[in-house]
Amino acid sequence: MTPEYRIDAEQRIASYLANNDVDDIKNMQVEQTFDDLGHEVHVWNIRTSGGNWWVVEGESAPMNLYTQNEFYFSADEAYSFHMGITQRLQARHHQTFKHVIDEVPLDIDGIKSISRRLNSAALELNDVSGPEDIQSIGLTCRESLIELAGVLAKGNPELLKDHGLKSADFKGIAKAVINIYAVGKRNSNLRKRCRDLIESAWDQSSEVVHSPNKNIPDAKICLLFTCSAVSVIQNLFLKYLGFDDEPKCPECKSMDYDIVGGENSGEFVLSCNSCGQESAISEEI
Ligand SMILES: [Zn+2]
Repeated sequence: MTPEYRIDAEQRIASYLANNDVDDIKNMQVEQTFDDLGHEVHVWNIRTSGGNWWVVEGESAPMNLYTQNEFYFSADEAYSFHMGITQRLQARHHQTFKHVIDEVPLDIDGIKSISRRLNSAALELNDVSGPEDIQSIGLTCRESLIELAGVLAKGNPELLKDHGLKSADFKGIAKAVINIYAVGKRNSNLRKRCRDLIESAWDQSSEVVHSPNKNIPDAKICLLFTCSAVSVIQNLFLKYLGFDDEPKCPECKSMDYDIVGGENSGEFVLSCNSCGQESAISEEI
C-alpha cells in the first residue's frame, strides 16, 4: 500500500463511516491485506467511541462495514464474508439474462414489429421499478395482440365484413381466423384450445394494464400468453398452408426420407432413411 493510497483510503473510509452514522473515529489502521483473489483487499480496524468496526475495501471490492461487537470476530472472517457477498453480487450481475420469450417457440418472421415489441417488453421485465412498469408491459402485450389482429385482417380481406368485426377486436378476429386455419371435425379440439389461449392472452393483458397491484410474475405470464398466442396463430397458418400434409413412410411413418427419381420419367420413389422401405409416389410433388 502506497502512502498516497493510504491517505486516500483513510479519507474514503471516514466519509463512508460518517454516511453510516459512525462518528468520532479514535483510530484506524490496516489489520490485514489479502491478495489471494488476484487483487489487494484491505481489512481496516476502526476504533470509535461507539464501538469497533471492520471496514473492507480494495481494488474491485466495494467498501463495506462490519461490526466487531457481534458476528465478525477476526479480520479474516470479515474478509471471507465480504468477498463471498461481493462475488455473489458480481456473479448475479454478470449472469446472462435469460430472455422470457426464449421459453416459447416464437417464430414470427412475417410480423417483425410485433416481434420487436415483445422483445423489448421482455427486456423491460429486467428493469421493473414500480407498478407503472408492470402496467406498461401489459400495455405492450395488448398492443401486440391488436397489431396481430390487424395483420390477420389484412391477410383475410373479407373477414371483418363477413363477421361484422371491428379492426381492433383481437379476440373476434383471432377466433374467426382459427376457424379458417383449422377446419373440420378433426381439428375441433385444437380450435377450442386455441380459442382458450386467445382469451387468456387478451384477458391477462387487460388485467395487467388496469390493475396497479400486479407483480413481475403476472407481467411475465402475460408476456408468455401473448407470445404463445402469436406463435399459435402462426403455426395454425402453417398448418393451413399444408405443412401438416408432409408425406410419411407408409411402412414406419418416418418423416426422414429422400425422394429419388424412379425408373421412368415422371416417377418418384420415397426412400425411407429409417427402415429402408422404397415406395413409389403417385402424386405430383
Ligand atoms: Zn420407413
